[in-house]
Amino acid sequence: MSQPKFHLHCTRCGWQEPYQQPRDVCPQCQHDWLNTRYDYPAVRQRWEQQLAQRPFDMWRYHDLLPLCDDCHRLSMGEGGTPLYPTTNLSMMLNRPHIYVKDERQNPTSSFKDRQASLAISVMREQGITEAVVASTGNVAISYSAYSTRAGIKLWTFLTSAVPAAKMREVALYGSEVIKVTATYDETKKVAINFAKRRGLLYDRGLKSIAARESMKTLAFEVAEQLTALLGPDESGRWRAPDWYFQAVSGGLGPVGVWQGFEELLEMGLISHLPKLACIQAEGCAPMVHSFRAGLAVAEPVLVPNTRIATVATGDPGAAYTFLRQVILEHGGTFEMVSDQEAFQAMHVLAKMDGISMEPAAAIAFAGLFNLTARGVVQPQDVVVINCSGHTFPVEKFLLGDEYARSVEVADAGGAETPPPEEGLLASLERLDRQVRRVAIIEDNPEAARLLRRVLQAHGEYQIDEAYDGEAGLELVRQSPPDLILLDLMMPKMDGFTFIEALKADERLSSIPVVVITAQELTAHERQRLNGHVRGLLQKGTFLSTDLLDDIQELLK
Ligand SMILES: *Cc1c(COP(=O)(O)O)cnc(C)c1O
Ligand SMILES: [Zn+2]
Repeated sequence: MSQPKFHLHCTRCGWQEPYQQPRDVCPQCQHDWLNTRYDYPAVRQRWEQQLAQRPFDMWRYHDLLPLCDDCHRLSMGEGGTPLYPTTNLSMMLNRPHIYVKDERQNPTSSFKDRQASLAISVMREQGITEAVVASTGNVAISYSAYSTRAGIKLWTFLTSAVPAAKMREVALYGSEVIKVTATYDETKKVAINFAKRRGLLYDRGLKSIAARESMKTLAFEVAEQLTALLGPDESGRWRAPDWYFQAVSGGLGPVGVWQGFEELLEMGLISHLPKLACIQAEGCAPMVHSFRAGLAVAEPVLVPNTRIATVATGDPGAAYTFLRQVILEHGGTFEMVSDQEAFQAMHVLAKMDGISMEPAAAIAFAGLFNLTARGVVQPQDVVVINCSGHTFPVEKFLLGDEYARSVEVADAGGAETPPPEEGLLASLERLDRQVRRVAIIEDNPEAARLLRRVLQAHGEYQIDEAYDGEAGLELVRQSPPDLILLDLMMPKMDGFTFIEALKADERLSSIPVVVITAQELTAHERQRLNGHVRGLLQKGTFLSTDLLDDIQELLK
């Protein structure tokens, strides 16, 4: 090899060498976490000349990835995933700059494909033909898919908590599946022992340079995409988000993403670093507890108690120490949410923004809900949230068996039976049932769409809309609804006057009204509504589920 592409570097003792051979530990101090250093000025120059012409996938940044010869590259189109703003969620949270980094759109539907693509390519470059990996599910799937193309036999060690459908997919790719009835941390130990005994390569996850550096590409993409969406920042550089949110298990993702942003800063391509929001499941939140207790080294959770197996790393080890330091120096936070909150977030994002994700990914969104409610995330903050994986085998568990209504066509046998078309029609008629009428009176079309969507997503309502108070009054006089959702500030006739008119009409005076306002009400305004209004919600501070609770209560 002529010029080494990068140097290996030990952050503990300062040891450094041009890359020639893979190393697990520093030869000088035995530290088992080595970093890389690239020729950043040269890379910046090359990016300025070439980046725009390169395809938009993670390999576009190959100059900063630790694969020496591109002929070993294994790609199935990983990375280059879309970044787009949320619509209804942004309105519900009153945060206009929430961007979803849609990592579901990777070849095996999770962000682990970045890791697998690079790590398996590097294994191939090193001549590896058999390897061992421990996983909470998605790494095993992704590594299995890529190792098929590299001619690598993979032994996957999975905890028995991993859903059966995920295990089946691993097996489908031809990997060996070893199901270990133990926690993930214990499963890892079993895998390490097995690899040692067989003399096989064990994938070291966070401690593997390739695994970690693959995640840098998320930071690179986000900065380029935000710049395309919002324009360069005040100093003409690429735009870094104010926040990066991710559901965290072992912490490989945020560590790698952070290193990516650091490299962009070092190259002068961005002006500031984001704050990290590392969100864990309450039943397995060693980082959150350790951070709150002021510990520099994580205290492991010995018995994880979460149904979300993907994030059940009880001992985050060095990732925690690294992330804690980052958060102490640069802001950001560790936060936890209950399984229930994650499942709720999953429903909200699916029903309101059309994004169906696995519960592990929804943890990040539930964390965002909490941190916006507490004002930690400010209204003008630019938030990027990693939608880390697609929903998989849990649909049944979440939806129960009644997510579809069945239509049975009547038996077509016998002389008296009507022809099949009529039978079908009759069956379809059974789907008709008494629906409740809801009137939405709201002048802002975006806000009206949000309310409509809340209703559409949660059942069958007949929805009528009017865009000012006068039209609204006309509408409810013509066909009185079962419930009114009412804005206060509207042209022609405001909400207060509307309510007074409603009150004066004895046919209409008992219809329940939920008021949805843009601002906090004054004491006087509250008094004007007093007694006439059954629910009061402030725009930008409620979730679809809050409104739905009110509606269902009032329509009982
Ligand atoms: C692995 C995984 C996580 C957790 O990521 P880490 O970076 O390992 O902490 C979150 N969501 C999904 C879908 C995952 O597959
Ligand atoms: Zn060292």
